[in-house]
Amino acid sequence: MVAGLHQSLLVAKRLQGKVALITGGASGIGASTAKLFAKHGAKVLAADVQDELGHSLCKETEGNSDESISYVHYDVTSESDIKNAVDMAVSRYGKLDIMFNNAGISGNMETRAVATDTDNFKRVLDVNLVGGFLGAKHAARVMIPAKKGCILFTASVASLVCIGVPHAYTTSKHAVVGLAKSLAVELGEYGIRVNSISPHAVVTPLLQKSLRISDKRKGEEMISATAALKGTILEAEDIAQAALFLASDEAKYLNGVNLPVDGGYSLNNQTWK
Ligand code: NAD
Repeated sequence: MVAGLHQSLLVAKRLQGKVALITGGASGIGASTAKLFAKHGAKVLAADVQDELGHSLCKETEGNSDESISYVHYDVTSESDIKNAVDMAVSRYGKLDIMFNNAGISGNMETRAVATDTDNFKRVLDVNLVGGFLGAKHAARVMIPAKKGCILFTASVASLVCIGVPHAYTTSKHAVVGLAKSLAVELGEYGIRVNSISPHAVVTPLLQKSLRISDKRKGEEMISATAALKGTILEAEDIAQAALFLASDEAKYLNGVNLPVDGGYSLNNQTWK
């Protein structure tokens, strides 16, 4: 019986018939989530500013009648791009079930407060926080009349602990969790669940850029040294699996949750080491 249940979870398409919009969908965690959601039956619209990468992601599912990923240009700092993408999801697929506000930037990871350029600080908040808010706002616009929906945010372990001197990044990720909780309270009335995910370090272009490392293996070694859970490496697909769970009907009563995917890191570390 248990083996049968396990088997059915393995083969079940957990997002069959759902429509998902994923920002930052051309790379890293977003691209991995787009592929996993498509594998689980969702019609996926990957949204990003990296058009070439976005189009090549779509090619991976071309000719596969069971899996669908499309791409839309979407700058999270442009409300008209966001509005257009949400409207495109509705006109193409008839609805929007899942909005994953995942796009993000790290900003300058080494700047102390006094040396911080104010425009750079504001840029990080604009992309990581305001961009996510606008995604949620336009998703809510179409989810409220439908009286259902799921809005997700990628926060970070930096929403739970202070990661040294990247003040803008830490601020933005703490704020994203506050925003998700605040939206969860408002939108629960319409059957819309809002949750966030807080990953520890994953080797993606964002992390490689901020740590200035070109070699993926070297990045994984650096991360392993600080990881709380030894003997395993956190990968983009692990975050995608958390997003799949939160977006699926198995999480139907989870609302306002910030789910750490950090191997226990945030339980014991108050600053990044
Ligand atoms: P990534 O660089 O691979 O992906 C981020 C994507 O966001 C890129 O495709 C980029 O083009 C897109 N993006 C950036 N600015 C944008 C804008 N203005 N409009 C639209 N798209 C934009 O990095 P990732 O690690 O996959 O990052 C995804 C999310 O995960 C981010 O919010 C990041 O803060 C968060 N995160 C990452 C880690 C990590 O260690 N990689 C850890 C915790 C949280």
